[in-house]
Amino acid sequence: METQEPYQITKKKCCRCGQVKPLAEYGKEGKARDGHKSKCKNCFNAKQREYRKNSPAQARG
Ligand SMILES: [Zn+2]
Repeated sequence: METQEPYQITKKKCCRCGQVKPLAEYGKEGKARDGHKSKCKNCFNAKQREYRKNSPAQARG
């Protein structure tokens, strides 16, 4: 069983994939309350890839 640390948040749930991941898996977001993006890097990259796919004019390679 995992022990939760109430005073130091080291993990959070991704709003896209719903997986609980360490904060290191989230990009920095100064405006966010906890200083990290709400989506994990994996989902963030996936979204960017989708965006590029939908915008072939800007895509390269
Ligand atoms: Zn995610």
